[in-house]
Amino acid sequence: MPGQPHRVTVIPGDGVGPEVVRSAQRIIAAAGVAIDWETAEAGAEVFKRGDTSGVPQATRDSIARTRVVLKGPLETPVGFGEKSANVTLRKLFETYANVRPARELPGVPTRYAGEGVDMIIVRENIEDLYAGIEHMQTADVAQCLKIITRKGSEKIIRYAFELARREGRRKVTCATKANIMKLTEGLFKRVFEELSAEYPEIVAEHLIIDNVAHQMAKDPAQFDIIVTTNLNGDIISDLASGLVGGLGFAPSGNYGDDVAIFEAVHGSAPKYAGKDVINPTALILSSLMMLRHLDESDAADRIEDAVLVTLEEGRAVTQDLARQTGGDVARAASTTGFTNTIIANLGRQPATVPPRHGSERPSGEARPRPRWTYGPERYASMEEELVGADIFIESDDLPLMMGPKLETLVGDAFRLLFISSRGTVAYPGTSTATDHVRHYRCRFVAAHEGAAVTDADVRALLGRVAVAYPSWNHVEKLRRYAGEDGFTKAQGQ
Ligand code: NAP
Repeated sequence: MPGQPHRVTVIPGDGVGPEVVRSAQRIIAAAGVAIDWETAEAGAEVFKRGDTSGVPQATRDSIARTRVVLKGPLETPVGFGEKSANVTLRKLFETYANVRPARELPGVPTRYAGEGVDMIIVRENIEDLYAGIEHMQTADVAQCLKIITRKGSEKIIRYAFELARREGRRKVTCATKANIMKLTEGLFKRVFEELSAEYPEIVAEHLIIDNVAHQMAKDPAQFDIIVTTNLNGDIISDLASGLVGGLGFAPSGNYGDDVAIFEAVHGSAPKYAGKDVINPTALILSSLMMLRHLDESDAADRIEDAVLVTLEEGRAVTQDLARQTGGDVARAASTTGFTNTIIANLGRQPATVPPRHGSERPSGEARPRPRWTYGPERYASMEEELVGADIFIESDDLPLMMGPKLETLVGDAFRLLFISSRGTVAYPGTSTATDHVRHYRCRFVAAHEGAAVTDADVRALLGRVAVAYPSWNHVEKLRRYAGEDGFTKAQGQ
């Protein structure tokens, strides 16, 4: 509530984190917003103490209390098994919507200056390859499961449409690789098409992600809101940052139904740590998203106006911007100096771009009413049949040897449909040149078209296969849902 102190967990973070966080805190205080900061830790020091999550319990408790976080970047250990503390934080608190606005800023030269680039990337933040479920299937074959769910897709897609409605945006572009990953990215696309019918006033389009990258480089102003899966979103949101001046200017908010975490897109930039030279704009813009989330829109507008004035006047220019404009890097403003200038500019309005004062945009905030189509009744009435199994086997046998061997032990219920190597049919005999990596998928289906297969049949089949190939490593049941295959064909099938 305006006037009351807000409670916010602040995580200064690693590298340049404490410097950019301090800058945002000073500006917020100067704008007269009262915040009780609960300082908490996560990241490098926590890993070093032996906490493999990187996020100590005290920090989790603080976030559960305050439900709002301002966070500096956290280093992710490279080369040993620990997970990113950033991703852990986002996932522990189910902040499923990663919102990254990319808007042209005055005084920040880019190839697209004057074209009106003003887009918001809405990235799914929990699922996809970031589910982080990885296994070595053999000593030399790694696998990462790409998990896309109807619920997760519905949450983020509805979030994007509600954001468009709230901010008066006219178009939502769904970016997927549904042409190749028909079930995972395809599910996301199907849910988008279903939900778009509920938002008739908003133009809904689907583009393949590689074309989105191409279009962003060619004509970025055509985009308004882009909603996409986790990995696609990670990549194109950095691309979007590059279109409007780079990581020094790229803010983000991670929103869930209960908790929101605000952070710059950039990392800990260790080479600049402690030197008072880093550009704090990205974290300042992230803190504006936080203030709007806290219903402090007036203060957010005033701070944003002061940032715009500072950038357009160019009296205080950080090193990164000086480099981009060919300015004198030696005379660039320090982080502290740049922050002081923004504070001095509070109350002023920009001359070359419309002031933000009185504007809701870009808040990155939306609180959609949850309304899902995944209740128990959906599954109670779902027609589901088991039609076969894929058994994955590590073997030095080539498919031409494996095939006949497996055919002798399939039993009455199954037939061997194919063996594939990295997704491409390698048996029955093909004259193609697929390479082999000692890892095969063997697909077994009902012996007779339309015959039923039971769970006991699959277990019995696995028992027989395991005798011949004890190095089997994974089984996937093949099911049909409401008459549709819940699995894809092999390449070349
Ligand atoms: P990075 O820290 O983002 O820095 C890469 C480069 O981007 C910097 O060397 C600098 O470029 C530029 N840059 C970054 N922030 C800037 C700013 N505020 N102002 C001006 N320029 C800025 O990426 P990284 O070096 O790949 O990652 C370092 C660590 O951060 C890693 O441990 C990584 O895992 C972690 N990380 C954390 C987060 C997060 O907390 N959300 C995000 C990304 C990475 P120049 O060298 O050209 O000056």
